[in-house]
Amino acid sequence: MANPNVNEHGYIYGKWQNFPDTWVICYHGTLYCYLLIGSEKAMLIDTAYGDGDLRAFVETITDKPVMVCNTHGHFDHTGGNALWEEAWMSEAASKDAKNAFGEEMTKRFLAMPHPDYKINILHDGDVIDLGGRKVSVVAIGCHHPGSLAYIDDKSRCVYSGDELESGQVLFLRPDLTGKEQAALHKQNMEKLLARESEYDFVCPAHNGSPISKQYIRDFIALDGEILAGTQKKMENLAGYGFAPVTEMFGRKAERAVHGGASACYPVE
Ligand SMILES: [Zn+2]
Repeated sequence: MANPNVNEHGYIYGKWQNFPDTWVICYHGTLYCYLLIGSEKAMLIDTAYGDGDLRAFVETITDKPVMVCNTHGHFDHTGGNALWEEAWMSEAASKDAKNAFGEEMTKRFLAMPHPDYKINILHDGDVIDLGGRKVSVVAIGCHHPGSLAYIDDKSRCVYSGDELESGQVLFLRPDLTGKEQAALHKQNMEKLLARESEYDFVCPAHNGSPISKQYIRDFIALDGEILAGTQKKMENLAGYGFAPVTEMFGRKAERAVHGGASACYPVE
C-alpha cells in the first residue's frame, strides 16, 4: 500500500526529539506540531493542514491515547484534527477550526474520517494533566482571537502558536486597528513574561524552534514602539519563506522590527 505520508514533494512529515518525551513533528519544513508524552496520555499541539495521515505518523511515536489541542483556529493548525474523534481548543478557535482554506482543502477535509469531530473547550487557567507532566493553558489571543499558549512543566517550554515567533507575527484581525492589536499583543506578552520562571524556551508554530525567551522582551518593546509611533520600519515586507505582506484586508501593511521581533500590521 502507498505510504499516505509521502506525496509528490516527498515526505509530508518529519520529526525530531527536542526534549525528553517531547517531539517536534514538522510539516514540509515550515510548520511545527508538538507531541508531549506523559505517563498516562500524550498531547498533540496542532495538526497542520490534514495532509497525509498525521495520526498514523503520531502512532509510530507513541501508543498512549492522544489528546489533540490547538493553539488557535487557523486551518494550518487544525486541519488534521479530523483524523481524531475529538479536539480541545478555545471557544473562539472553535468558530474557525473547521473552515478550510479554499475549495480543494474543504473537499479533502470533508473526506477525512471525522470532519464532525467533537470540540471540547479549554479556558485560560486550565491545567492539563498528562501523567507526571502538567500543561497550563494561557489565553493570548491577538493574531487570532482564540490563541492559547501552553506552558509545559516537563520540557519547560511555552508553546506559543502564531502569537510569538522568530520570523513574523501577523496582526491579522480585520476588526482591530494596528495599534489596537499592538496593545493587545503587548498585554499578552507581558502575561507570558510574568510566568517566565516556569519555562526556559519558546516553541512557536513556524520559523525555528525552540527559540530564546528574549523574543518576548523584544516583542514587548516592538509593540510599545508601534503604539508610540516610534517603530523602526523594515523596507522588505517579506517574512521568512513567505510572500511580502503588502496589504491586510484592504488596508496597507507595514513591517517593523525590534531586536529579533518582527510584526506586520495594518496602517490606517
Ligand atoms: Zn495563525
